[in-house]
Amino acid sequence: MPGYKAPVDDVLFVLNEVLGFERYNNLPGFADTTPDLVEAIIGEGAKLCEEVLQPLNLSGDKQGCTRHEDGSVTTPDGFKQAYDTYCQAGWVGLAADPDHGGQGLPYTLAAVMSEFASAANMAWAMYPGLTQGAIAALTLHGTDDLKSTYLPKLISGEWSGTMNLTEAHCGTDLGLIKTKAVPQDDGSYTITGEKIFISAGEHDLVPNIVHLVLARIEGAPEGVKGISLFVVPKFLPDNDGNPGTRNAVSCGAIEEKMGIHANATCVMNYDGATGRLVGSEHKGLPAMFTMMNEARLGVGIQGLGQSDVAYQNAVTYARERLQGRALTGAANPDGNADPIIVHPDVRRTLMTIRAFNEAARALILWTAIKGDIAHRSDDKADRQSADDHMGLMTPVIKGVLTDKGFDNTVAAQQVYGGHGYIAEWGMDQFVRDARIAMLYEGANGIQALDLVGRKLPRDGGRAAMAFFREIEGFIKDNGGEEAMTPYLEPLKQGLGDLQNATMWFMQNAMSKPDNAGAGSTDYMHLFGLVALGYMWAQMARAANERLAAGADGRDDFYTTKLALGRHWMERAMPETSAHLARISAGSDTMMSLPAEAF
Ligand SMILES: Cc1cc2nc3c(=O)[nH]c(=O)nc-3n(C[C@H](O)[C@H](O)[C@H](O)COP(=O)(O)OP(=O)(O)OC[C@H]3O[C@@H](n4cnc5c(N)ncnc54)[C@H](O)[C@@H]3O)c2cc1C
Repeated sequence: MPGYKAPVDDVLFVLNEVLGFERYNNLPGFADTTPDLVEAIIGEGAKLCEEVLQPLNLSGDKQGCTRHEDGSVTTPDGFKQAYDTYCQAGWVGLAADPDHGGQGLPYTLAAVMSEFASAANMAWAMYPGLTQGAIAALTLHGTDDLKSTYLPKLISGEWSGTMNLTEAHCGTDLGLIKTKAVPQDDGSYTITGEKIFISAGEHDLVPNIVHLVLARIEGAPEGVKGISLFVVPKFLPDNDGNPGTRNAVSCGAIEEKMGIHANATCVMNYDGATGRLVGSEHKGLPAMFTMMNEARLGVGIQGLGQSDVAYQNAVTYARERLQGRALTGAANPDGNADPIIVHPDVRRTLMTIRAFNEAARALILWTAIKGDIAHRSDDKADRQSADDHMGLMTPVIKGVLTDKGFDNTVAAQQVYGGHGYIAEWGMDQFVRDARIAMLYEGANGIQALDLVGRKLPRDGGRAAMAFFREIEGFIKDNGGEEAMTPYLEPLKQGLGDLQNATMWFMQNAMSKPDNAGAGSTDYMHLFGLVALGYMWAQMARAANERLAAGADGRDDFYTTKLALGRHWMERAMPETSAHLARISAGSDTMMSLPAEAF
């Protein structure tokens, strides 16, 4: 039976010693978050994830969700109690607006909880996770009336949210959406159409589900410019704001799928359902993007969560499984074999995953703080640069952390040998669950195109240039420190490769867009390596400083960080040059074959 221990100390190290979380106490919601309080909040969250959510992970996967003839859906045993416990503790509204019942605490803390919950039980965590997107969209784009009707119920977790984009004939290309909206005299719309693959579309955790739906108003322009966003509840709220008349929306089927069995993936039928417009007519896609950016970061966090829980279990196994002898002589002379953790190849696997996990966590937390600045700072320039960072990093975090997160679950499974393939060990669930994160919220190929085609050139490349400048500044500022050389040299090399790749696109992709498409996934991963390398350089500096100042008996904690950082620099960063070589090869060869030749 797999286990999970939330990495509280690692989170606190990044927040307090690397990112200086306390520095931001001028932002609304940050003032009271002293290091003690942050530790207490994170500790409570860890306990809930370890003791309530994780024990339901394997059983939830086995039992799955059941759809009944009346269209209702039952979640696995224990899910409802866990959901109620989570809501009662206020986790859904942790970072939400206090005017609507939220606690107004930093989004950064919600991101920490999101990692723990995703690692403990990804399928369960998606139920409250999707509500976050609905809260974000209504907060930014809803009228006062919509906000007061829906936000308090969503923020308390009493009702849950969904996002409905996908139709059978359109996933990536949302311009093809057919779901129809017809205006009514009372200002509402009737919504008709079929959405597929809707996560948490129907379930028994809450009495009302609030669907955010993309549809085309009759007579609207073709393509994405004619799409609007609607709020369509399962039950129309009555005059007291409670679930009233049943709306004409129902779950037609739930999908049988590879993983996240405990999360209901629904076909949703809208048969003239009553909906209300969110934001302006035909401006649904930008409004939905509010939800999607939140959701994309959340999906990147899922990649990290699965990578970390798979790693933790692989380490336990590698310490216990006895096979072969260490190359340098018996490490366990009293036993008939050594634990497999003595073998360099097993260590390579474990260290590679761990080095990724820690840097990925730092990247998420850094970006989450930028999210808080972008939404809460009263300084326009700070908001702008934080927003630039978020825009640039969202596809990187979504694409890289889920690609690598999945690879890492497979690598952790490999540590178990054949036992990793046997269901009772639970490693196959991590692989199956992690796989979806590469696909939904925009398949990762689309994230790469978003990075190269939109985020990179936006505002004359302002966000990317700021990122490059920041790393150059860090290298310069720390260049005199000998202890930093093993971290700074590979980072400098990687940054050079990234800048050359960026230049190559500027020179070769404007006139020939296929060159951008052909190199986009490599570019995204090259970007990710450098961003994660920068995180390791910062963590190494913090660890070096603590060791130099006296580490209060925690020397091992910091020397482990330094070793993991060196592993990243030695083993992962050299890949930047391979990515650059592939990008510079351009698209000619791959576009030379006609479709029939494949
Ligand atoms: C379990 C699960 C849960 C989901 N939850 C939700 C949900 O809650 N709400 C919701 O609305 N949707 C949801 N989805 C849908 C999901 O977001 C889509 O499946 C995804 O966006 C991809 O769309 P598609 O499957 O139609 O693939 P397609 O759009 O057909 O793409 C197929 C492949 O072609 C590539 N491709 C497509 N266009 C281009 C291009 N222009 N350039 C380069 N490559 C391209 C893609 O990268 C992809 O690899 C879910 C899906 C699953 C499986």
